[in-house]
Amino acid sequence: MTKTLLLIHTGGTISMTTDERGAVTPGLHNPLLGEINKLGLADEIIEIDAFNLPSPHITPAHMLELKELITRTLLEQPADGVVITHGTDTLEETAYFLDLTLDPKIPVVLTGAMRSADEIGSDGVHNVLSAIRVASDDGSQGKGVLVVLNDEIHTAQNVTKTHTSNVSTFQSPQYGPIGIVTNGHIHYHHAPLMRTRFNVDKLGGRVALLKVYAGMDSEFLFHAADAGYEGIVLEGLGQGNVPPSLMPGLQRLLTDEIPVVLVSRCFNGIAQPVYGYEGGGRMLHEEGVIFAHGLSGQKARIQLLLALSSGITPEEIAESFKGH
Ligand code: ASP
Repeated sequence: MTKTLLLIHTGGTISMTTDERGAVTPGLHNPLLGEINKLGLADEIIEIDAFNLPSPHITPAHMLELKELITRTLLEQPADGVVITHGTDTLEETAYFLDLTLDPKIPVVLTGAMRSADEIGSDGVHNVLSAIRVASDDGSQGKGVLVVLNDEIHTAQNVTKTHTSNVSTFQSPQYGPIGIVTNGHIHYHHAPLMRTRFNVDKLGGRVALLKVYAGMDSEFLFHAADAGYEGIVLEGLGQGNVPPSLMPGLQRLLTDEIPVVLVSRCFNGIAQPVYGYEGGGRMLHEEGVIFAHGLSGQKARIQLLLALSSGITPEEIAESFKGH
């Protein structure tokens, strides 16, 4: 059965071409626009050219705008699924933002491309077609926001860009894709168990993401507190530890009631309060650091920003990270 789909373009390599200098750049016109409808994959494709931005130019404000555009458009014009084309650099952040803020009854799928529209072996049209097939599939409902590239279906929560240029860049470390796209079918073999959601209609607060390294001192943490940051995400070491020289800065943030969320800089596994030495996870936990189990730093940052923007209590913020 064919369906009605909403196709929203936001830019990225998928809609870029090579200029006279040989550099990949967005043109005035998105080459995909109007082309997908001609393939007859759905009864109707409602196409919206929302932004034409490289994804390093996408901010949380654009993500909120996108969420509102989807909600508003679906109220005016019901559809069976939503497909969003997006640059791959920050695609995972937009996908997780939408996952945390939308409550769609229909599938919402993000896709992109590693090769520009005019490059040999361009993966853009193939990925859009796969995303349309996934968004049209009844099995895609209730799985949260999905990311489809290179014939794989990933959850917004776990997917990350792992390679600078390879078309198989999107992976879900630790968990793998939840399904695959073949010539004839959409096959699911996993389903996410839990999702978190926030009611947000405007964004407030600045949240920084800092990577922890051997010998790191507290200077940036003191600076963050002085500069008025409202939340900090730390990509800590191993199972969730930091050098002792970071403790004074952490204590300052926590005394100022600035929430500190800890993830691991290891991309597999879960940060947990295991070690009892100075700067070890147990000490961090006792001081009030929130452990974001299994999220990447960039996803935890989006979540902390949304949690702060939703006006929930500090206890509820900490609770919201427990599901991962
Ligand atoms: N730099 C590009 C972007 O994110 C990469 C891509 O789309 O693949 O806009």
